[in-house]
Amino acid sequence: MNYTIKKEDLPTFLSSLKKRFEVIVPAKNEVGASSFQAFEGQQLYLDTRTDFSPKKYFRPAKEKIFSFRKKSGSYGIKAEFDKTKRVLFGIRPCDTHALHALDLLFIKYFGEDQFYSSRRKNTVLIALHCTEACENSFCTSMGASQAIGHDLLFVERGSGFFVKPETETGKKLLDPKFFRHTSDAPPSPKISCQKELETQDLGESLYRNFNHGIWKQESERCLSCTACTQVCPTCYCYITDDEFAFGSEKESSRFRLLASCQLLRFTKVAGGHVFRQSRSSRLRQFVLHHLSYFEENHGVQLCVGCGRCISACPTKIDLTEIANKIQSHALGGKK
Ligand code: SF4
Ligand code: SF4
Repeated sequence: MNYTIKKEDLPTFLSSLKKRFEVIVPAKNEVGASSFQAFEGQQLYLDTRTDFSPKKYFRPAKEKIFSFRKKSGSYGIKAEFDKTKRVLFGIRPCDTHALHALDLLFIKYFGEDQFYSSRRKNTVLIALHCTEACENSFCTSMGASQAIGHDLLFVERGSGFFVKPETETGKKLLDPKFFRHTSDAPPSPKISCQKELETQDLGESLYRNFNHGIWKQESERCLSCTACTQVCPTCYCYITDDEFAFGSEKESSRFRLLASCQLLRFTKVAGGHVFRQSRSSRLRQFVLHHLSYFEENHGVQLCVGCGRCISACPTKIDLTEIANKIQSHALGGKK
């Protein structure tokens, strides 16, 4: 059974959820960038995908993972799991695929990372289908233009939304005060992305062209500013840091901090060796991780084609141009 809701009822519906959940919505921030934030009655941003993904609710830039305190010669440790009950409204299909990739990494393949899984288990996802292509997107090439793993799907239709429940958790949100049954078939708007990426044998092609001249050529424009990795919904690399309360038995804390493969210091290891000294090697790592290594290890591409890294790059470095040039070279100039 599917449902509809009028656009004018959406703010009241979201407000009603606040009795039970922290409600997170897409909206513009104080400097005009679109991002996900707590719903306080502000105007929603529903035009296209947001400039920043909802990743911070699953992998915050700074996350306290445990605290520790000296107790008569030993240490007591207390883990910190975020169990806040959240509803995330308006997550786009590309970002649901990003969560799927992170789930594979942090829940399925290497044992459960409870700091991540606690946030995932306690968050209800209301996906919003795209009705037009976003700037620089290529989600259709990456197979990420249809939402996955969500509890409810909203599709804009005229003066309201068509609503398709996917889980029992989603169905429980469908308060008859706001939602009406419909027997209509679900609308399925088609989008046509601005960019395309030839993905057949892509990972293998990129890896075989590890020493292609394009890496050096493109990296000459790279500023190592990290904008690409900050906006990416799937970049997850992190460092840890401790805040010590020295000389006392006060509580100290360990934090997990998002890092960036584009920074020289991120590639420095114990003993002082720097693994990726050149900007070209760091740019190549970003592209190969998203379009080659992750798929080889986990069976899905880490890149979901949201196009955010392209939009955010101040020098217009575009991973689809790099990958398509290499594909063209690999395919003997046929593309
Ligand atoms: S690499 Fe770029 S296009 Fe791919 S998911 Fe990350 S930000 Fe989006
Ligand atoms: S956003 Fe562009 S300039 Fe900045 S680190 Fe990424 S590729 Fe380099």
